[in-house]
Amino acid sequence: MRIDVLTIFPGYFAGPLDTSLVATARARGAVDVRLHDLRDWTTDRHRSVDDAPYGGGAGMVMRGDVLVAAAESVWNDLPPSATVGTAGAPADVGGAPPRYVAGGARPRTVVFTPRGRPLTQALVRELADEDRLVLVCGRYEGIDERVHELVATDEVSLGDYVLMGGEVAAAAMVEAVVRLLPGVLGNAASAAEESFEGGLLEHPLYTRPPELRGRTVPPVLTSGDHAAVAAWRRARAEERTRAVRPDLLDGTGGAGPEEV
Ligand code: SAM
Repeated sequence: MRIDVLTIFPGYFAGPLDTSLVATARARGAVDVRLHDLRDWTTDRHRSVDDAPYGGGAGMVMRGDVLVAAAESVWNDLPPSATVGTAGAPADVGGAPPRYVAGGARPRTVVFTPRGRPLTQALVRELADEDRLVLVCGRYEGIDERVHELVATDEVSLGDYVLMGGEVAAAAMVEAVVRLLPGVLGNAASAAEESFEGGLLEHPLYTRPPELRGRTVPPVLTSGDHAAVAAWRRARAEERTRAVRPDLLDGTGGAGPEEV
């Protein structure tokens, strides 16, 4: 899979991309993550990606011309110079029409916004099946509405709160998607048994020591009876889900069984 990230802070991703299983997946070629600095598509000497909102009001808005040009470059593997300043028309690439154009056919492109579809395990599974993802990180007061219309195939929210930018949402999506790619997790069964799979939260986990500050491990887990262990885990998962996330059981939240 290839993932392109459009951001004004490519440096933000140094930690998340170079740590643990994501770093290993990249090194093994399971995923190719490419970071793009949106300022490479600006036209003025200050490299401005934002401007004052039409109609007035607080804050600045991310410019649509910069974001559309950046998306068309990345979608078509063109250098920034080919699409900078194309607010009025798609890039002219030597007479050949670009394969992907804003408002037309385009790879799966996620624009992060608090108004988007919540990032659930069901959506992560859907995205993990794609060959390509393009992730667009907003900043400031948000992004010119025409980018949502012309560039996004998906609008995604990390949750019901406001972040300063889309980078943390993009990093979360990359990590959640990459761990589902073939060969990334050492044990494929661990992904299938985790929270949200089958519409349940995960059962409690225990490891050594057998006693911790007076608390012991449930005896069934050391009984060696695999069927009893499985039944205990299922019961605890249902109990926990009913207590803290009943919406997962009634199919109104998360990745219900019919969705995965
Ligand atoms: N004014 C916007 C609003 O009220 O919805 C919030 C803008 S926020 C300060 C700047 C950028 O951060 C957004 O364009 C978006 O890309 C990102 N962002 C903020 N909260 C987010 C969330 N919950 N999920 C995904 N992206 C978010």
